Amino acid sequence: MDKVLRIYNTLTRTKMPFRPIHEGHVGMYVCGPTVYGDGHLGHARPAITFDVLYRYLMHLGYKVRYVRNITDVGHLEHDADDGEDKIAKKARLEQLEPMEVVQYYTLRYHKAMEALNVLPPSIEPHASGHIIEQIQFVQKILDNGYAYVSEGSVYFDVEKYSKDHKYGKLSGRNVDELLETTRELDGQSEKRRACDFALWKKAQPEHIMRWPSPWSDGFPGWHMECSAMGTKYLGEEFDIHGGGMDLVFPHHECEIAQSTAALGHETVHYWMHNNMITINGQKMGKSLGNFITLDEFFNGTHKLLTQAYSPMTIRFFILQAHYRSTVDFGNEALQASEKGLERISEAYSRLMALKPAATTTVDVAGLRERCEEAMLDDLNTPIVISHLFEAAKAINTVHDGKGTISEADLAELRDVFKVFVEDILGLRIGAADSSNDDAYRKAVDLLLNIRQQAKQNKDWATSDRIRNEMAEIGFKVKDTKDGFEWSL
Ligand code: ZN
Repeated sequence: MDKVLRIYNTLTRTKMPFRPIHEGHVGMYVCGPTVYGDGHLGHARPAITFDVLYRYLMHLGYKVRYVRNITDVGHLEHDADDGEDKIAKKARLEQLEPMEVVQYYTLRYHKAMEALNVLPPSIEPHASGHIIEQIQFVQKILDNGYAYVSEGSVYFDVEKYSKDHKYGKLSGRNVDELLETTRELDGQSEKRRACDFALWKKAQPEHIMRWPSPWSDGFPGWHMECSAMGTKYLGEEFDIHGGGMDLVFPHHECEIAQSTAALGHETVHYWMHNNMITINGQKMGKSLGNFITLDEFFNGTHKLLTQAYSPMTIRFFILQAHYRSTVDFGNEALQASEKGLERISEAYSRLMALKPAATTTVDVAGLRERCEEAMLDDLNTPIVISHLFEAAKAINTVHDGKGTISEADLAELRDVFKVFVEDILGLRIGAADSSNDDAYRKAVDLLLNIRQQAKQNKDWATSDRIRNEMAEIGFKVKDTKDGFEWSL
């Protein structure tokens, strides 16, 4: 099979074959979280989407350098150019050092990602650790005449840039309209046009996070970090840049403009964006009371949740939709996913226990090719999952004694499950959890060995306590000639 991955490029609005710049190698950059709050569902989707892309590229044999940044300079979401820095504000309110806030939320984010079985990226650069690179990048844009200094801040000159290049190519925004409709209303602004965006902001006296620069003590504009860190670690041109659809404008549009203004050419070959998440049909937002953190999902503690959902259920649920479709979280849909995941998990465990026969009577031929084909078609994970459900049916037929499977087909099926369920979809379930089972069995054996020893030492208190309390949990322990047997 010709294994050419086809991906949808937001810039060209077409699905196109993926050809990396350097044969066998892929450079990929994904906008990571802003660490000033608990990880929420919105963080899970891009992380899982690009985790699957990362895993699949490696499966295809590419060596991947995956860069996912941490935005910790602290920019507002809606009002990136003005207003108070959120990390600084939080630090002031909680009397913390800003980097203490960053560290706290970064650790929590990592914990949630690990629970979701999201692989760590190759490099996870912090914006705050790349201020020098960002200042140099701003200077290049100034030198090339596409920015201006005003009151110690530096702004990108959208009007000037759009005379030489196309501003709005990624988002499809019309630059004339932008220039027209964003005229200043108050006349007080230091910007020439409202659509000009900050490359560097002079810090107000109360602003804690600040760095010296040729223009003022201040901090970089939000879009600058990804231009600077992406090109630092992946080169002036690299393969894939991803993120949530909400970042197309202004964040990624501004990144394209910045890179083109500084380097004279575009940086990214393929722009990829995952669609957004809604909760019971509504956009997620603090004011709507449906802002559910990942921890609340895992513990079931939010009032909108009727139960807890395991990280693997969340992961599976997200993968049951194509990454370019919207996903609506609701209890019923999540419960259906939980059951679906259980079905695959159970089939996987049964698959590992099946005994081969001389012939195969169930339909399992071509499963690997069908799964591969779905993945090559712009990472169509819902189709892969539907193929796995069909395979689960065949496995259950053999398990129930209503069909047979040959040794070769059994080995093939086990490998397809390992590759697609574990390696590519990244689901930690059933047989994939055997390392946990193994550790659990060893722990029970250890406990019972301690009981044996206690008996030999006539320490009846300890030996009785272990036996009684294990019985309460539900273990049946039987003493035998050579030691013990147990079951749950
Ligand atoms: Zn970014």
